[in-house]
Amino acid sequence: MNIQNPTKIVILGGGTSGWMSATALAVMLGAQVDVTLVESEDIGIIGVGEATLPHLRHFVETLGIDEADFMRATHATYKLGIDFRDFGKIGDSYIHPFGSFGDALAGVPFHHYWLAAQKNIGDVGSIGDYSMGVAAALANKFAPPASDNSLASTYGYAYQFDATLFGPFMRDFATAKGVKRVEGRVNNVQTNPENGNVETLILESGNQISGDIFIDCSGFRSMLLGQTLGAEWEDWSHWLPCDRAVAVPCTAENENEIEPYTRAIAMPAGWRWRIPLQHRIGNGYVYASQYLSDDEAKNALINAIEGKPLAEPKLLKFKAGRRKKSFIKNVIGVGLSSGFLEPLESTSIYLAQMAITNFIELFPKNGVIQQFDRDAFNQLVDMEYDRIRDFLILHYHATTRDDTPFWDHVRTMEIPHSLSEKMELWRQSGHVSKYSQGLFYEPSWVAVYLGQNIYPTGFDPRTEIGNQDGLFRALHSLKNAISKQVNNMPSHRAYLHNHAKRLADIE
Ligand SMILES: Cc1cc2nc3c(=O)[nH]c(=O)nc-3n(C[C@H](O)[C@H](O)[C@H](O)COP(=O)(O)OP(=O)(O)OC[C@H]3O[C@@H](n4cnc5c(N)ncnc54)[C@H](O)[C@@H]3O)c2cc1C
Repeated sequence: MNIQNPTKIVILGGGTSGWMSATALAVMLGAQVDVTLVESEDIGIIGVGEATLPHLRHFVETLGIDEADFMRATHATYKLGIDFRDFGKIGDSYIHPFGSFGDALAGVPFHHYWLAAQKNIGDVGSIGDYSMGVAAALANKFAPPASDNSLASTYGYAYQFDATLFGPFMRDFATAKGVKRVEGRVNNVQTNPENGNVETLILESGNQISGDIFIDCSGFRSMLLGQTLGAEWEDWSHWLPCDRAVAVPCTAENENEIEPYTRAIAMPAGWRWRIPLQHRIGNGYVYASQYLSDDEAKNALINAIEGKPLAEPKLLKFKAGRRKKSFIKNVIGVGLSSGFLEPLESTSIYLAQMAITNFIELFPKNGVIQQFDRDAFNQLVDMEYDRIRDFLILHYHATTRDDTPFWDHVRTMEIPHSLSEKMELWRQSGHVSKYSQGLFYEPSWVAVYLGQNIYPTGFDPRTEIGNQDGLFRALHSLKNAISKQVNNMPSHRAYLHNHAKRLADIE
């Protein structure tokens, strides 16, 4: 540990990625690093990004942040999953939960038994009937999952929060841990003429900030990674054509309930999100500008929201893709500066968290970065992006919708080979490609495949060895046990209310 001579890390950007990175570096590397963050209030932050994944809980906990403090400060609610509507076909609805469907038996995943039962017994209900996460979400219930191996431990949760409040909350936490904050716009970047490393950021004020390692959290500008070091962009818009969003918060009309889940509702040229927070609802229409004008998108969103708009609609432009490398020389891109995948599965904040924690895990003791550190980091980032990309494309491609040019295009487009292989495996055998690392394990793929009506023709033959009456009884008893458990849970609003002093300031 080199505490005498800490590695000087400079973060450019004070959005969600910048402050998450600053906090993680300060807490996890402590006196080994000296962290300075530069941000410009004039430029501002993206300020959307309200739905998250359960991994954020682990991040918050590891950093020693009190969940109740954080939830109160960001008006957060709990999220048990995402409710997808009208994706497979108009009228469809399914929940992708954070949790499992049933239990594996004799090494065979539960969904194979469910498939066997559908074939041999008849209609045994939807796969969602066998998931605590789905059942609790549909009933608007919430209680923290148990930590034993009981049924009550088979789901997880994430947060939905006001993204404009998350960065400032993390900023206060990071600065209390010793991160230095500099306000001002960076106009120039000085690199070393011999090795090409970034050396100094030059601010409009003339102030200069030098460092050993730079974290680029400058958002879509990608000022260090993209602009200065020329990191190449890999464009994925031919698979994910949505390139704009219009966002508007509104009042919550149903005062009785706060849904413990995010909604993603398919629209003629994309989809719209609906995210319930403690005091309001976040809404946005993510669309492909080649099929819809900004005004049409704005009107469609305003007509679709249930409450009164609380701000002017905000237009955001983006492209799906990523930098071919996120770690070049002494610069690491975290967040939007390294890539963007639309928020259909709320993955951006996860990607920022993954990047900074991987960097910290690879951080060499003496702070001197080697090429193998960069290669290892870039491989991890590529793997995460590629897999999330495939998972997102599945939501569009697995549809029978041909009612608009957008849906007809995504239904018929060519997809990456890595996804067509996975889909073929599923179709033939009911098996899901297994990963040992990364996001979206088997239950997530099962939720989306079945939710979007791709039923495999085969399944694990071991499910047909036992007697089918026994299988029917086991399914029936699991379904009953889930309903009983969910009936005993408080409503989401009641849970937030009963913990009001700690979690919320709602009535
Ligand atoms: C439509 C939409 C919806 C989204 N929804 C979700 C979601 O539900 N869940 C999710 O996980 N993610 C979501 N995201 C992604 C999420 O918004 C981002 O991952 C998150 O905000 C992180 O952004 P960032 O910190 O990388 O960049 P930004 O928020 O853009 O921050 C960039 C920072 O860099 C600073 N900066 C830039 N240039 C300079 C300069 N020259 N000098 C000084 N400072 C500079 C800015 O001032 C700012 O502080 C969504 C994104 C979009 C576009």
